[in-house]
Amino acid sequence: MMLMISMLTLLLAGLLALAGLHAGNIRGVRLWALASLCYSLASFITFAGLTSTSSGWLIVLGVVLVMTANGLQLCGIQAFKGERIRWRMPLLIATAALALSIWFTIIDHNADARAITNSLAFALINLLCARALLIRIEQPLRTAYWFTGISFVVMAAAALTRAATIHLVPAGTFAGLYSQIPLVPTRFLFLSLILMCVTFGFILMLNYRLITNMQAIALRDGLTGALNRRSLEEEAIRLQARCTRNGNTLAIMMIDVDHFKLINDHSGHQVGDQVLQRLAAVAQASIRRDDYFARYGGEEFCILLPDTTEEKAEVLADRLREAYAALTMEFGGAVLQSTISIGVADSNHVGLEFSALVTAADQALYHAKQAGRNRVVAHSVLENNVQTQGMVTA
Ligand code: GH3
Ligand code: MG
Ligand code: MG
Repeated sequence: MMLMISMLTLLLAGLLALAGLHAGNIRGVRLWALASLCYSLASFITFAGLTSTSSGWLIVLGVVLVMTANGLQLCGIQAFKGERIRWRMPLLIATAALALSIWFTIIDHNADARAITNSLAFALINLLCARALLIRIEQPLRTAYWFTGISFVVMAAAALTRAATIHLVPAGTFAGLYSQIPLVPTRFLFLSLILMCVTFGFILMLNYRLITNMQAIALRDGLTGALNRRSLEEEAIRLQARCTRNGNTLAIMMIDVDHFKLINDHSGHQVGDQVLQRLAAVAQASIRRDDYFARYGGEEFCILLPDTTEEKAEVLADRLREAYAALTMEFGGAVLQSTISIGVADSNHVGLEFSALVTAADQALYHAKQAGRNRVVAHSVLENNVQTQGMVTA
């Protein structure tokens, strides 16, 4: 059974290594694969230790492997979370455990003290892994982090229970118990099951992260990082329902770069692309957290502003227009300045339907272009003009 479990941990190491190969820029997975490999070797050694008569040095090797595995797991978690790898603490625990293990092998042949020390070091490093997993969790991965974190807590609790049991039973009893073969495989099986839970937890974390990354790619425009048109339309449906429920106003801005064709023609498409990126950066910096900034198509962008009236949106749009016009962009030594025109509308005037809002803001944008560009036009102003003209004609 123990040989089978060793093989299984080896397979899990292979599985993590394969998963790590396709993890792209997700860090930490290869460290977990290495950790699993160390655990697998440690299992083989424990297996060998059962049949060996003098297993003292095998236990030392086992301790080194298990501590290395734990340290790699901890560093892997930190790398996966995008944090700086803090390897000093696991190294310190592993070194202390190794030194004590050697001490108990050469100088003090106290099996109980050796087992207690190893269990405490094992519990400590597992608690560090659990802590790293259970604090500062990113929301979409919460379940996977909890699953893996709890597995580490169980592993630490098992090690602490072992240390406490050895401490509480009369001296020497544990060594006697240890030689009773059925107890060892039971403990071994339990730990191996928790270890498998940890490995599945890591794979679950990787899976969740890949899905989150894929969703981010599917929702966003590759060039500017703004939302793409499809996700803007989905957000618009959600906002429409929310505003209908709360009776709030939804405002929209349609933004178009002035004479963008000229920029492309004079400076090339690559410069044109960078200009779009700069505009996106300025716009992203000027909106609130619950506004939605999207690339509507080509060099046209759209911002949806929940709980905002046309008047407020007009002020924001003018601020954005000014901030962009003030940018001095330099590409290959050539200085370039560019402007935008913005059309603004809101649901108080044209209703909450997304297509109606877009049409209204587009009409306002068209007028901004007609009036000479580099300006903001509100749709309600056009409406009023039309009404006034109608009254004069009548
Ligand atoms: P106007 O002031 O009237 O808006 O003039 P304009 O030259 O900006 O006219 P228009 O809006 O029709 O120009 C759109 C241009 O944007 C045409 C197209 O080649 C260019 N374009 C669209 N998408 C991209 C892109 O992703 N990168 C680059 N570099 N250019 C793009
Ligand atoms: Mg355009
Ligand atoms: Mg344009």
